[in-house]
Amino acid sequence: MSVRTRFAPSPTGRLHLGNVRTAVINWLLARRGGGSFILRIEDTDTSRNVRGGEKGILEDLRWLGLDWDEGPDVGGPHAPYRQSERGARYDAAVDALLAAGRAYPCFCVEEELGADAEAGKGGREVHRYPGRCRHLSAAERARRSAEGPAPLIRFAVPEGVDGVEIQDEVFGRISFPMSELDDFVIRRSDGRVTYNFAVVVDDIDMEITHVVRGVGHLSNTPKQALVFDALGRPRPTFAHLPTVLGADGRKLSKREGASSVAELRAEGYPPVAVLNYLSLLGWSHPEEREVLTRDELVAASGLDRIGRSDTQVDPAKLRWISAQHLAREELRELVAHVAPFVDRARFPGAAERLPEVVDALRTRLGTYAEVNDHLPLLFPDSGALARARAEVLASPESRALLEAVRDRLQRSTEWSSGALGTAVREVGTAVGARGPRLFHPLRKALIGSEDGPDLGKILAAIGRAEAVRRLSGIDDAPAV
Ligand code: GLU
Repeated sequence: MSVRTRFAPSPTGRLHLGNVRTAVINWLLARRGGGSFILRIEDTDTSRNVRGGEKGILEDLRWLGLDWDEGPDVGGPHAPYRQSERGARYDAAVDALLAAGRAYPCFCVEEELGADAEAGKGGREVHRYPGRCRHLSAAERARRSAEGPAPLIRFAVPEGVDGVEIQDEVFGRISFPMSELDDFVIRRSDGRVTYNFAVVVDDIDMEITHVVRGVGHLSNTPKQALVFDALGRPRPTFAHLPTVLGADGRKLSKREGASSVAELRAEGYPPVAVLNYLSLLGWSHPEEREVLTRDELVAASGLDRIGRSDTQVDPAKLRWISAQHLAREELRELVAHVAPFVDRARFPGAAERLPEVVDALRTRLGTYAEVNDHLPLLFPDSGALARARAEVLASPESRALLEAVRDRLQRSTEWSSGALGTAVREVGTAVGARGPRLFHPLRKALIGSEDGPDLGKILAAIGRAEAVRRLSGIDDAPAV
């Protein structure tokens, strides 16, 4: 049977890095096995849904390049893929459990609060239902149903067993004692089914083979396993991923918007770098490699190298991985990616010669947006530049060098970094300056600092007219 994984977000805000790491691992697993990745929107808790939540999630996943084979927008053989549209499926499954005696109506309305606590995902249930309505007679049920209001429906947990055993691919075999499980609510009196029930009906209908999600859901797993059993369907493979904590060591929250995919996108991280970084949160490559392409990630992915300990977002590592990916981009691609981030109002000269500008600065970039941090290297403040140039011109030797280079540049036919670097060295040879004695005065006059990018690249980036102007000094600028 081919692998079928799913990502099942609730549309309660933008995806944070922990949520999206779950999506990444599921996507990799599906793609590696030549299987299918399914997107399902768990929107039954209407009070928590936010407007545009689903749209934002789809946008974030698409940006990361996580394509799905079935989902709310693309449909598929198991549609619908939004829980809010699957009510009929849930009711049919509730009816099946009622008919089999694996669920029963509960008239204890005062227990509704407990039902809500139970629906709170991820948390350990504190409230336990004593089973009062479990053994009511058929006549009693009919009488109370007629009286109204509509009952809750509870799952009848098996009796006479000690516990539920779960085999988890990450956490191993775990036994949950029966004393921790009560007859949990599967449908509220208003007709809405609870998470632990809906998720199983969906996973069965959608033929999910691997349920991979955050470890916060581990405590829900015994209930879900029991529902699989009661519906007579094999349990899927379960794998729970370690928690991703924020850089501050605190829990990530969707609401804060901190560490969201949308934020990283706005900060100019390339999607492949984010994908690469997220896949390493709690997982390691068999050869401990850290910079991996999309295909390499797919090929190496698997549940066997996932750790159990919490992991923490590390912005410095993310930036380092991002820088490695930027370094591998073809210049043309990199320019196209950097272009939307350039602050054109602040650096009007940069947009004119962007390929040369990016070529000069590329080794310094950790993100596309960082181009603005480095553009002052090529386009410094004019006052500072004038002061630096005045210092250089104070030395007759340097003045002669600047003039010789300027004259040569005015005649250069090929305006490329390689040809310009050669031209500068030739002038140096002619005037007897090499190494720092050649490069330092030139850089200082051109960009206001002795250190900086390669001289040929600086010249290519700022262009002939500007190079000549900077080498000349404002007062003696020749007409060009
Ligand atoms: N909707 C759940 C969540 O956002 C996911 C449930 C699951 O993966 O089983 O946490």
